[in-house]
This record gives sequence, structure tokens and C-alpha cells, in this order.
Amino acid sequence: MGFNIAVDGPAGAGKSTIAKLVAKKMNLIYVDTGAMYRAMALYFIKNDVDINNVEAVAKACIGADITLKYEEGVQMVYLNGENVTAFLRTEEVGNAASVTSGVPQVRARLLELQQTLAKNSDCIMDGRDIGTCILPNADVKIYLTASSEVRAKRRYDELVSKGEECDLAKIQEDIEERDFRDMNREVAPLKQAEDAVLVDSSYMSIDEVVERIVGIAESCK
Ligand code: C5P
Repeated sequence: MGFNIAVDGPAGAGKSTIAKLVAKKMNLIYVDTGAMYRAMALYFIKNDVDINNVEAVAKACIGADITLKYEEGVQMVYLNGENVTAFLRTEEVGNAASVTSGVPQVRARLLELQQTLAKNSDCIMDGRDIGTCILPNADVKIYLTASSEVRAKRRYDELVSKGEECDLAKIQEDIEERDFRDMNREVAPLKQAEDAVLVDSSYMSIDEVVERIVGIAESCK
């Protein structure tokens, strides 16, 4: 088993930004499990699968083969042999991932891949169920959150800086809807593991959060 840090939390809490920086500081591989659910969602979109039809999603997911490769330390996601990394971070794909990730067959297809990665490497893995389901024996568990207002504002600033037009109230509504779905689904809902450390980043800088997590992780080595 590698040295494993599990980071869970709601959409927009800064998990990927923070986890990437912690990975660099501690020489760990960063595993973004949200990107795997996004690649699945992209597969459904590309193949015109009705994402609200649970049976259709369960059946179709068998056709999606998702693998990860690391190119200069950066995670690349392959869907049936094609590098789809650049197509995953849209609102459409994120929302479709949130809807389809509640389907047990979708989760089952990704569980083994995630556990194998953690077994074979020292890694920091982020998602929704890493500390509760995927790596219940992780060396360190963090639950990273922030208020929905702060998360929406961060997302808004990110989109504006990319020159995209967007509406702050609509972003916050989408975030709250996504939180509700992730927290209330039957399989592997988002919740803080009993032994996870809660870090609320609402009023912390990125550096402060990274220092906090590195401090916690170093003390567990
Ligand atoms: O973190 P990210 O926004 O990329 O994740 C997209 C969606 O994938 C989430 O809204 C969530 O529904 C799902 N997901 C999940 N379990 C994980 C990671 C992501 O259900 N471990």
C-alpha cells in the first residue's frame, strides 16, 4: 500500500487546486477521481445516452474504458484510447457527471481503478467518497469545504478570467443542486468520514490550506 491522502468535499471547494500543490510539495501522485466520472459522462453525451435513464446509463457504462496516464506528472484521462482531458471541465460535463455518478454500475467500474492506483503509488486522491468508501484506511483524510457563496464566487471568477459570460446566482444555484445530489444519493454519498479532519477554506488562502494539509500529513508519516 502506498502512502495515501484522501480529500473529499463538495464541488468548488478547491480540492483539485490544493491537492495538486500538496502532491508537488510531498512528491505524491495526484489522482483526480472527478475527472474519471466526467470522462464517463462525456461518453454518455457522445453516445446520446439519456443521462436521466438509470437503466440506460447502467447498460451503456460497460462500453466506457477509462484509464489514466501521467505525462510530466500531469494526469491525462483516456476514454477508449482517446485523450479526453481537455474536454472534461465544462459545466455540461460536470452536471452530467453529477447525475450519472449516482448509478451503482458507474461507480463499480471506477472503484477498482482508483483502489489499484492507491495501492501502487503514494498519492493524494480527491473526490466525494475517497475517505468513506474507496480508501477507508487512508493514512490521512481531509474533508475540504467552503460556503456555497464562496465556492460560487470562485467559480465565477475563474470563468470570467477565461472570458466566459456567466451569472453568479445561477452558478450558486447549480452548485447547491449538485451538493444536494452528491450528498443525498443512495450509493457512496458525499459526507465527512468520521476520522477525517475538517478544513473550511472559506476564509483561508490557497497557501494556508496547503500548509495546513501538509502539516497534518507530515504528522501522520
Ligand atoms: O469533482 P468534480 O466536480 O470533477 O466531480 C464531478 C462529479 O463527479 C461530482 O459532482 C460527483 O457527482 C462525481 N464524483 C463522485 N465521486 C467522486 C468524484 C466525483 O461521485 N469520487
